[in-house]
This record gives sequence, structure tokens and C-alpha cells, in this order.
Amino acid sequence: MTWWFRIKLWQRVMLGLVLGAAFGLAVSQSMDAVAAELLLARVRIVGDVFIRLIRMIVVPLVFFTLVAGIYAMGDPKKLGTIGVKAFILYIATTFFANLIGLGMGVVFRPGVGVDLGGAEPRQMGDAQPLGERLMGVIPENPFAALVQGDMLAVIFFSLLFGVGLLMAHDQGKPAGRFFESASEGILKMTYIIMELAPFGVFGLIAYTAGTKGVETFTAILNLTLAVYVGAFLHMIIVYGGLIRILANLPVWRFFRDILDAQMVAYSTSSSSATLPVTIKTVSQNLGVKKSVAGSVLPLGATINMDGTSLYLGIVALFTAQAFGYQLEPQHYPLIAITAALVSIGTAGVPSASLFLLSIVLDVFEVSPEHTALIIGFIFPFDRLLDMMRTVVNVTGDAAVATVVAKWEGELDEDVYRAKPTQ
Ligand code: ASP
Repeated sequence: MTWWFRIKLWQRVMLGLVLGAAFGLAVSQSMDAVAAELLLARVRIVGDVFIRLIRMIVVPLVFFTLVAGIYAMGDPKKLGTIGVKAFILYIATTFFANLIGLGMGVVFRPGVGVDLGGAEPRQMGDAQPLGERLMGVIPENPFAALVQGDMLAVIFFSLLFGVGLLMAHDQGKPAGRFFESASEGILKMTYIIMELAPFGVFGLIAYTAGTKGVETFTAILNLTLAVYVGAFLHMIIVYGGLIRILANLPVWRFFRDILDAQMVAYSTSSSSATLPVTIKTVSQNLGVKKSVAGSVLPLGATINMDGTSLYLGIVALFTAQAFGYQLEPQHYPLIAITAALVSIGTAGVPSASLFLLSIVLDVFEVSPEHTALIIGFIFPFDRLLDMMRTVVNVTGDAAVATVVAKWEGELDEDVYRAKPTQ
């Protein structure tokens, strides 16, 4: 067994990913579809167990880590500066994601000549009105918000509670220390759960590769290419640029050290489920201290979705090209702004944004029938696109947390520059 644990965790997870994809493809090629699906569904169970385990700790982790993170700042004013910096970076990176997304839509022209004949129309989701959503950020009952896993409400309450503890000075200390210790404990649970990651990732990827295999890629090859190339460009240029230019840190180490979070994002398609792993990776491998990791990352996992925004822009152009809608120059910035706003409101769960697509398509007045058809067309393939956009979403949170930590003097550069221990 020790040889297994001697391999670094990210390498084990990578192994799970590669072997899982190979296994899934092999099974789907060598058996009939029903038998393959049955076998892969069994293999997937270990993946589902893994997802449940990480989801299990998301709410307590956000609650304890956020309160502990604010408490660790030592001064409520620091929350303001960290918050403002993170927010500006979140907006700025989303802006670039939009540019790249629209650029990819123009270059790859993914919608030109696609055959929508076989698509079954699908109903779009109802977006909650913005006013209601904003009001919902303030929980009427924080315990209900915790129970229901209402992330923004939990974040809001935790932020204020952390500030309250700081303002209570000496009297706040015992509770502050309690939250610090509890958040350490929950974070350590992530370490235990991550030991299952190589197997979980194997099961999830095997299922996806085997049931939505190569044909998926080829059927919507251009769309897939546009999303994947756009995602890589965004990560390398924008996040690489942030790390190199704004934080003056080596880029290579950043990408190497967040690989396990990226792989979990890729296999689960959920930035919210990946959050515990993102927090663990960013604090343990990159040396971002709790005050920043605990505050910037939960917020990012909820509102910062560059991959989603990039994807929505591409799909909007895809739709226009597929149905021959003429886009005027003013439509492009409007698509970009709407995609950015929708991405903020997207929950960090699989395929969440696809069902909010109608809001973006409203910009150039796509008919409800066309919208339902596009959603129906993309839905069977969406998993592969979702996996990639979730990787971007998670990477963006990690990049912003690292830059803010560097600016705030909350980055342990020795840890950042050290070789990973796990
Ligand atoms: N699956 C994405 C995420 O969790 C959200 C989306 O559907 O775009 O980040």
C-alpha cells in the first residue's frame, strides 16, 4: 500500500482520470450499449459516493472557514479591501472571458451548418427575478439557509458574524478560536475524502466517456473545440497573466499545484462540490492564508464563473449561426453583459447555465421554440462542455485568491514555491 501513498495525490487523481476515460471508452466499444451502460453505472457508484462526501462538507466548510477567515483578518476594514480587490478581479476576468468567448464564436463559427433536425425541444429554466435573488441574499433565518444549503445567504450571514466577533474584541475570542479550530477540522476531513478522489474521478469519467463518448465530440466538434480552446486560452492568458504580472509569481507552479482541484472540477462538473478541494489546494499547495482562502473562494464558487460566461457567449453565437439570426454590432456587448450577469446568477452545479440560456438569447429576440430546440440539441452533449467550463470557473477562483493574497501579504511564498508535499 505504501507505494500507492508515495505517489503524489494529483498524480493519482490524474491516473484515475486517464484510466477512467480509457476504461469507459473500451467498455462502450466492446459491449452492446445496454450492458455497457449497466456496467458503467456500477462503476459510477464510487464516483457518486465521492461527490456525496465532498458535498457533505460544503455547507459546514463555508460556514466555519468563512467566519474563521474573517476572524483571522483581525480587522473588519481588511474585509473591505480584500472584498473590493476580489470583486474587481472577478469582474475584470469575466470581461476577458466574454471577449474570448465571442472571439471563439466568430472564429470557429460552431453553429454554421449544424443539423438541428433530431433535437428534441427542451423547456428552459425559470430564472428568479433579480430583485428577489438579491433580497434572498439576506436570510430571514440563517439556520434555515444552512439547512437548505443556500450559499449566498450562508456567505452573507457568515461574513457579518465574523465581523461581529472581531468587533467584540476579547469577548469574541473564544468563539473566534472555536471557529478557527472547527474550520481546521473540516479542512482535514477534505484530506480524508480526497484519498477517494482517484477512484471517484475514475468512476465519473468512465461513465461520461463510455456513455457520451467520442461521437459526442464529433457531432458538435466545432462547438466543443470553441469551448475547449477558449477555456485554455482564457486560463493561460488571463489567469497566467494575473499570476505573472499582477502577483509576480511563477505561473507554472500555480497550474501544477491546482491540478487536483481542476480534475475534481472536470469530473464532477460542479464548482460548488469542488469548493472543499479548491480551499484545501489553494491553502495547502499555494500557501494562501485562511483570511483570504476562507473568504474569497466561497464567494468565487458562488458568483465567479468565467467558464460559464465564456460558454454562454459561444452558445449565443452558435444559435444565431444555426438559425440565421442577423447580429448587429450592438448585440455583441449586450450578449457579453447578459452572459456575465447570468454567470453570476448560475448555481455551481452541473448544467446549471444551459437552462438559463434563454436570458442571453433574449438579447437578439430568439423565439421560444428556437431556444427550446437549442437547449434540447446541446443538452445531450452538455456534460463535456460543462466539465471544461467548471474547470475554468474553479481555476479563476484560485487565481484571484492567489493574487489578492499576494497583494494583502497573506501569501506564504515559501509554500507557493515549494514542491508539493502530497
Ligand atoms: N457546472 C458549472 C459549475 O458548477 C456551472 C454551469 O453550468 O455553467 O461551475
